[in-house]
Amino acid sequence: MSRTAYVNGAYLPLAAAAVSVEDRGFQFADSVYEVWAVRSGRLFDAQAHLARLHRSLLETRIAAPMSEAALMAVIRETMRRNKVRDGIVYLQISRGAAARDHAFPPPSTRPSLVVTAKSLDRPNWAARAANGVKIISAPETRWARRDIKSVNLLPNVLARQRAKEAGAFEAWFVDSEGFVTEGTSSNAWIVDSKGVLRTRALSNAILHGVTRAALLQLARERQIKVVEAPFTIAEAQAAREAFISSAGNPGVPVIAIDERPIGDGEPGPLTKALRAAYLGAASPQ
Ligand code: PLP
Repeated sequence: MSRTAYVNGAYLPLAAAAVSVEDRGFQFADSVYEVWAVRSGRLFDAQAHLARLHRSLLETRIAAPMSEAALMAVIRETMRRNKVRDGIVYLQISRGAAARDHAFPPPSTRPSLVVTAKSLDRPNWAARAANGVKIISAPETRWARRDIKSVNLLPNVLARQRAKEAGAFEAWFVDSEGFVTEGTSSNAWIVDSKGVLRTRALSNAILHGVTRAALLQLARERQIKVVEAPFTIAEAQAAREAFISSAGNPGVPVIAIDERPIGDGEPGPLTKALRAAYLGAASPQ
């Protein structure tokens, strides 16, 4: 089926969908984005992703192109036109197209809005959860505002390519103090050697993952011991379990880090339970 993208007011065949070469997203990565998972035709954690988008826009001083209700209507129409029942919706808002100049363009410049929707590669998605994935570590080289979901992703791209070349699925960034911040497109978790679920606390050092928040809540509801504290690669390698979380990969087991197996090298029970709880209980809207 040919895909359709929404670009600045029009629904276009993907091959014809384009923004200006002077778009500031293209020129400067002056742009923010958001990703929702779609499951059984429903958007998961819809409001939480919208709230994060709103915050990314505020922090970057990019104007919202339309109301949240109108944005949701565009998202749903893009899902419908692409017949996406299980997949993801991608949305990007840039500061718009204007003659190249680092400072903000004239206030009359309209932000650009692009929305696409894509069906899930179901066999691969299921295989990742069933078999687990490998991780490599990589030095943290990103900017200091990783809480903003900006398209400024070059360090993530380079680290992810290194992971791929090493036969791994994801790379975990390690900060100058030796602590894992997060993955290139996911948050990082362990069940430490004492059985405590651990993920780094919120700060500007990581993206405030919507799936992270939902999993934390589910863990607390289940009286699972959990702390929001950073961990090192050595601690992760000695952990009972490790996993990653993102809208697209909620609770995917990590079975090796830098080629060292985690636990018995199989997906862990707590990871599996939390993923099942999330997929069963997350509040689709
Ligand atoms: N961290 C980074 C760097 C990400 O890019 C993402 C998602 O794309 C996440 C964490 C997970 O966030 P969420 O659970 O909201 O998808």
